[in-house]
Amino acid sequence: MKITIIVFIILILGCGLYLFLAKKERQINNILEKPMVNDNKLEIKKETPPKISIITVYDNYSADSRLKTAHGFSTFITLREKNILFDTGADSETLLNNIDKMAIDPKKIDFVFISHLHGDHTGGLPGILKINPDLTVYKPDSFSKSTEITNKVWTTGPLGTSIIEQSLIINFEQGLIIITGCAHPGIVNIIKKAKEMFPDQIVNLVIGGFHLSGASDSELQSIINDFKNLGVKKVAPCHCSGDKCRELFRAEYKENFIENGVGKIIEI
Ligand SMILES: [Zn+2]
Ligand SMILES: [Zn+2]
Repeated sequence: MKITIIVFIILILGCGLYLFLAKKERQINNILEKPMVNDNKLEIKKETPPKISIITVYDNYSADSRLKTAHGFSTFITLREKNILFDTGADSETLLNNIDKMAIDPKKIDFVFISHLHGDHTGGLPGILKINPDLTVYKPDSFSKSTEITNKVWTTGPLGTSIIEQSLIINFEQGLIIITGCAHPGIVNIIKKAKEMFPDQIVNLVIGGFHLSGASDSELQSIINDFKNLGVKKVAPCHCSGDKCRELFRAEYKENFIENGVGKIIEI
């Protein structure tokens, strides 16, 4: 009699344990089946935020086929406490589509930095201002000389003679990051200006339009030599740089050449 009761209890406990484990396995499977990337909003958040992130949100070239490309340039920069939109591309629709897909909230932009007043850099501004009307917009004539706009973020001030353009410089522990719109004043002149502003710093990265699509191979080679002589560590040419320019820089800079285009996320 006693043995029957013990066997009965063991059977009951065994069934209970089996049902419990089966439920757990179903829960684990449910978690694994969840998609890692939400196609609607690309997941870009990380557990430990990088010091600086630069996300190309509008460009001629593509780095992620889920986003739209068009002639123009815009990049979204985050320095932990500040969000900066550098240029706005040529139209609001493409810009807003891309930043929405990248889960960037236009209301969280602290200021817009416009490199120069060409339509392929200013065209998306109305769309951004519609959502965030009180946003501060810095144009080349907002400054008369190189100026620190916010902690570690500088403008070169207006450069050039016919087309006036400013570039953005981030001066941080790992060197300078130089961000250019179209580089109308000359990409090498812009780097020289940055070195003049911060003579003791290395140039970590030059990113943006280099405006070299019509340049000959020998002109491009001499510009690459200038980059090397100025100690530029990494390059990410896009927008108006030209295919040949990208090809020659890629060959020379190898793993330090960044394939820039819409959707590219650079984290430092
Ligand atoms: Zn331009
Ligand atoms: Zn341009």
